Amino acid sequence: MVPLVEMSEIDGLHMDLSSGLEDVPVLFEELTRPTFQYSPDNVQGPGCTTDPSEVTLPGCSCRSQSCCSETCSCLRTHGRAYDDSGRLPDLSRTGGACSRPVFECNALCSCGDSCSNRVVQKGLQARLEVCSTQDRGWGVRALEEMPLGTFVCEYAGEVIDFVEARRRQLSQRADENNYIIAVREHAGAGSITETFVDPARVGNVGRFLNHSCLPNLLMLPVRVHSVIPRLALFAARDIGAHEELTFDYSGGYSNQRPAERLCTERDSPAWGSRTDGPQRKACHCHASNCAGFLPLDLSVLN
Ligand SMILES: [Zn+2]
Ligand SMILES: [Zn+2]
Ligand SMILES: [Zn+2]
Repeated sequence: MVPLVEMSEIDGLHMDLSSGLEDVPVLFEELTRPTFQYSPDNVQGPGCTTDPSEVTLPGCSCRSQSCCSETCSCLRTHGRAYDDSGRLPDLSRTGGACSRPVFECNALCSCGDSCSNRVVQKGLQARLEVCSTQDRGWGVRALEEMPLGTFVCEYAGEVIDFVEARRRQLSQRADENNYIIAVREHAGAGSITETFVDPARVGNVGRFLNHSCLPNLLMLPVRVHSVIPRLALFAARDIGAHEELTFDYSGGYSNQRPAERLCTERDSPAWGSRTDGPQRKACHCHASNCAGFLPLDLSVLN
């Protein structure tokens, strides 16, 4: 069983769901806390041979406070993803930052903490609230405005391998939520990297985000210290305070070409349904282009 963690009280009405583990509290109104262990970062789960907290990437030798593209080995190798204010400027354009992997400066880099190539590693900075929605269970609300390209939060959990992801999906009951996201990255020359993250038992605020067919967040794999990517969610447009935050569980993003598209997979009952065939769950996102059902990606069954 997952140990129940005491939540710290914020103001008599709200609790901090992260119990002080995040820099900013994750507000939560209810008294009964969902049973899971809060972790701001990915943790090593069954089948994952690399500890995600280990530093496995090389660093740059820049002596400046902030790295510049001309001299920094990190930026020269992987390109500059963030602008000076730490946002992804090209989210709305094809061929922008989202079409190639993002590598941040890491623990081995000699640049300062204020380097503009350090964003996701700083963790949650946005003020968020987990609250119950009318028809979709829990959801996450923004408590402040977030301009296009702003890093909002990670989707952190246990990093597991394909076999364990499949085993967990097959053992799920029909009334249980599937939280497993499979991110498939096309690294050129036909090589594909797959990462499976399951925040069901150990996870962060990202596990409460709902799906929408017209989402306001975009998920991108971002590498910091480890070859194992963090699944980072950025504002896909300007987001107002009090808006519900959502992303497309299928990884779809209208402006990305299919070949460059990052494929995510969640709530795919095909994994868990051995005899009845896919039982798709209804989507209640209320978007004008709503597909009516949560995404299903059968290719992952191979
Ligand atoms: Zn740097
Ligand atoms: Zn550098
Ligand atoms: Zn660096």
